[in-house]
Amino acid sequence: MPTAADTTWIVDHARSLGFDLCGIVRAESFPELSQFDEWLTSGYAGEMTYLADERRRQPSLAMENLHSVIVCALNYNTAYPYSVDCAATTDPSQEPRGWISRYAWGSDYHEVLWRKLNALQSALRQKFPGPFAARSYADTGPVAERVFAKYAGLGWLGKNTLLLNENLGSWFFLGVILTSLDLLPTVPLGETPPPDLCGNCRQCLDACPTGALIEPYVMDARKCISYLTIELRGEIPEDLREPMGWQVYGCDICQDVCPYNRNVPITATPEFQPRQIHHEDETLFQPKLSWLAALGQQDFREKFRGSAMKRAKWQGLVRNACIALGNSRVQKGTPAHAETVTLLQHLLNSPDSAIAISAQWALSRIE
Ligand code: SF4
Ligand code: SF4
Repeated sequence: MPTAADTTWIVDHARSLGFDLCGIVRAESFPELSQFDEWLTSGYAGEMTYLADERRRQPSLAMENLHSVIVCALNYNTAYPYSVDCAATTDPSQEPRGWISRYAWGSDYHEVLWRKLNALQSALRQKFPGPFAARSYADTGPVAERVFAKYAGLGWLGKNTLLLNENLGSWFFLGVILTSLDLLPTVPLGETPPPDLCGNCRQCLDACPTGALIEPYVMDARKCISYLTIELRGEIPEDLREPMGWQVYGCDICQDVCPYNRNVPITATPEFQPRQIHHEDETLFQPKLSWLAALGQQDFREKFRGSAMKRAKWQGLVRNACIALGNSRVQKGTPAHAETVTLLQHLLNSPDSAIAISAQWALSRIE
């Protein structure tokens, strides 16, 4: 028989492992999962065909005898300013810099989450000695983590489509353990999960530079800078290049402007501090675009080993850096401008056509 004491023990244990939040939910077909079909049919997922996996919509298909989902959240917010506060202060006489999404500054979050989820899974084996199935996913499985997190009581799904927690904001990763254990949910049966506190606010919709949030709670991922810079292979559609601004990997804008992300706690996980990137005293926080655009393939592999940024691949990151250079306000007549032009001219000969096209586009804007 599942007991409240077991649920409390799991939540407490997750917290002792460093997770900021933990909740448990029964693996049901929540309404948001069926709405997902309509979103896919509208084509909003772009090339992310893996999102069509049936198991995302039907939790019972994700694992045999699946009863419960343990959802854990890990804060990755570091004590660095937000992109919207930095963008306006960039000096056009200096080397242009790019913006990498906050979550990717440190070590690959998949690995950090994995270690903690595996430790929790081992603890479950000790606590519940009978046979049971358990499988951990650190943003890697065919699971709608956000929806389970909502019904486990961790927060609400905001108009920017992310999970928001009243105290933690949205700077956290979600990891889940699917299990055949029959556990009491953290939101008791008959009670509702935390209310939607977005109210009349629409700051995320108004701030999105590409109009990817086509209406509250609905994102057209094909327009989202995160999708364009990380998932999309090949050329970036021309009309979306300028609104990309200085973003080279992901985009934080709709989180930066969210009032629930003001004065939120800083992570206790040291792995999420920005990585040092090369011999200069530089990190992945606002890196120089010239460094990114000049990366060779071997360099890329070495520098981004153990980083979530591997996902963009070398071609994608250099392409994105070219576009950000084209959007930079680098001042003519400065050494930074001369260096940028030389670099982009060199990239015109890239064997990768998306890089060459992006370099051409950038040159046409700054020369
Ligand atoms: Fe818009 Fe950026 Fe948010 Fe995507 S991540 S919806 S581009 S603000
Ligand atoms: Fe909700 Fe406003 Fe945050 Fe958007 S910016 S998610 S509307 S609270």
